[in-house]
Amino acid sequence: MALAQLGGAIARAIQQMSNATVVDEKVLNECLNEINRALLSADGRFHLVRDMQNNVKRIVSIDHLAAGHNKRRIIQQAIFNELCNMLDLGKPSFTPKKGKTSVIMFLCIIMTGSGKTTMCTKYAFYHQKKGWKLALVCADNFRVGAFDQLKQNATKAKIPFYGSYTESDLVKIAVEGVETFKKENCDLIIVDTSGHHKQKAALFEDTCLYMLRDMLQKPDLIVFVMDSSIGQAAFDQAQAFKQSVPVGAVIVTKMDGHAKGGGALTCSRAYMLWVCVHVSLNGSGYDPILKGSSAMNITGYILRGILILGTSDFMGYVNLCQLSITATKSPVIFIDTGEHMDEFVVLDVKPFVSWLLGSGLIFWGKLFHTFMGDWSGFMDKFHRMVPKDQQPELLQKLSEGKSTLRFLNAMFQNILKMGLMGQVFSMLLGFNSELMLKELESSNPKIMNESRIMRIARGSGRLDGEVMEMLEEYKQLAKSLSKMKGLKIPTRGAMNLR
Ligand code: GDP
Repeated sequence: MALAQLGGAIARAIQQMSNATVVDEKVLNECLNEINRALLSADGRFHLVRDMQNNVKRIVSIDHLAAGHNKRRIIQQAIFNELCNMLDLGKPSFTPKKGKTSVIMFLCIIMTGSGKTTMCTKYAFYHQKKGWKLALVCADNFRVGAFDQLKQNATKAKIPFYGSYTESDLVKIAVEGVETFKKENCDLIIVDTSGHHKQKAALFEDTCLYMLRDMLQKPDLIVFVMDSSIGQAAFDQAQAFKQSVPVGAVIVTKMDGHAKGGGALTCSRAYMLWVCVHVSLNGSGYDPILKGSSAMNITGYILRGILILGTSDFMGYVNLCQLSITATKSPVIFIDTGEHMDEFVVLDVKPFVSWLLGSGLIFWGKLFHTFMGDWSGFMDKFHRMVPKDQQPELLQKLSEGKSTLRFLNAMFQNILKMGLMGQVFSMLLGFNSELMLKELESSNPKIMNESRIMRIARGSGRLDGEVMEMLEEYKQLAKSLSKMKGLKIPTRGAMNLR
C-alpha cells in the first residue's frame, strides 16, 4: 500500500469514528481494526501494530472516561501519539540550541564522494534560514579540492568558513577554526573532517580522529554521514564506526537515485532497503544470508529489494530508520535528496504523521520556509520544480500576493507531481486534506473561532490542534507570499523556460 493510501485509510477510519452518534467500545474497536488492517497491508510489523492497538485502548479506557470528556478528541490524540511512537526511533544525543555555541563534527567512512561536504553546507544552510549564526570549518586535508568545495558552497550560502591550503595539520586547523568562531559567538560551528575507513585502523591515528575529537573538547554532536548508494557496506561500516566513535545522529545521503552511476546506484539503494527489511525482521544487527553470498544471491536480493520498495514506501521509511538505530543506535535526522542546496528532508516524526493523516500543509509550510526569503534560490527552485506551462500563471498569482488555501494546495500538488525532488520526496510528502480545505474555504481563516475550528476538525476527521496548526502555518505562508506582491514577472523568453 502506498503511503498516501495508508494515510487516507487511517484518516477515514478516524473520521468514521468521529461521525458516530455515540462513541463506545464497539466504535473504538472498529476504528482500531480498520487502522490495523491498513498498517498490516502496508507491511507494518505485527507486534508494532498490535502494541499500538493495545496502547490506544489502555490510554483511552473508554468505560472509565467521565461524562463530559470529549471521547473523539481523546481517541484521535491517542492514535496520533501512538503512530508517532511507532515511527519515533529516538532523538539525537544532542540537539543544538540557538543562542548557545555548539560544535558539530561531520564524519563518514568513505574517503571521498559520500556527500559529506555537500551535506555540511546544507545542514548549515537549513539553520541559517532559521536565523542562526553559522560557521563552517574545513578539516579535510585528505581529499584534493575539499577546502575549495566547502569555500565555494559557503560563499554561495553566505556562511563564514575557516580552512587552509597550506596547513597539513588538520587538528590545528579545526581547533583554530572552532576557537575563532567561538569568539564570534556563533550558534553552530560545523566541522567537516576527512573520510575514514573502518578497516584501516591506522588511518584513524594518521588522521588524528581521536585527537581531533579531544582537541575540540569533545564536540557536542558527531554526525555520521551514510552514503545510501554503497548498499550493505554502509550498514557494516556504520556499525564498526559506532564502536570507535560516539555517533549521535545519522544523515543518509544520495536518496534521490540520481547520483552518478544511475541505475546501479538505485539498485544498491533498493538493495540497502532490502537489507534493512531483513535486519528489522531478524531483529539482529547483521544479515546472516548475505555473509559469504554469491553474486547470484546478491542479484536476487536486489530484485527483492526493488519489489519491496515498490510495494511498501511506508516500511521503506521505517526500515531506513531502523537500520540506522541498529547500526549506530542513533536516529536519522536528515535525508539528502540531491546535489542542490535545498534538496534534503528533515526527518521529524510529528510533521510526518500529520502529513500521513492529511495535514500536508504543515509539513509543506515548513519546507517552504526553508527557501523563502532567498529569491535567487526560490526562483531556481521554482524553475526546476514547477511544470513550465504553469510557471507564468503561478508567478502572476504570486505577484498579486494571492495565497488562498486552495491555490497553495494546487501549487504543492503540482510540485509533487513533478517528482523532481526524487523518490524520497514523493514517498514522504503529499497533500490530501481535501475535506479540511472544503470546510475551510467557506470560512475566513482570520475570523476563525473555537467552535468553528472544532466543527472543521470534526467534519474533516482531524484533531483541533491540527486545524489550528494548519491555520497558523497558512497565516505564516500567506504573510511570506504577500511579500511577493509586486514581484517583477520575467517575460517568457527572459525566464529561460526549460
Ligand atoms: P565528500 O567527498 O564525502 O565530501 O562528498 P561531496 O560532498 O563532495 O559529494 C560528492 C558528489 O556527490 C558531489 O558531486 C555532490 O554534488 C554529489 N552529491 C552529494 N549529495 C548528493 C545527493 O544527495 N544526491 C546526488 N545525486 N548527488 C549528491
